[in-house]
Amino acid sequence: MLTVTCPVCGVAACETELAPGGEAHLKRYGPGSTDDQFEEYLFMRPNTKGVHFERWRHAAGCGKWFLAARDTATLEVFGTYSAQTLQPPAELIEKIKSKRPGWSYAQ
Ligand SMILES: [Zn+2]
Repeated sequence: MLTVTCPVCGVAACETELAPGGEAHLKRYGPGSTDDQFEEYLFMRPNTKGVHFERWRHAAGCGKWFLAARDTATLEVFGTYSAQTLQPPAELIEKIKSKRPGWSYAQ
């Protein structure tokens, strides 16, 4: 079972209390963007096997959105942080690198 700690209310919530929101830190394109850029935003996802940054909502708890770093193969959660964060926190990147040598954040 997947357990993720909500950074807003501090509750360690099981997956049935959470709603997934897809990949985090996507570059969104606004008015004036090309069709290719908009297509990339809508449909092109790396579908990572391994460490992934994603959006979650504590649906059966505080109701707030937050971001998490999770390994999609092992379900290991490396950490959670505010949804208002534009990039993953540096300390979280270092924590992941210490556990997954060779891993790098590419965005
Ligand atoms: Zn919460």
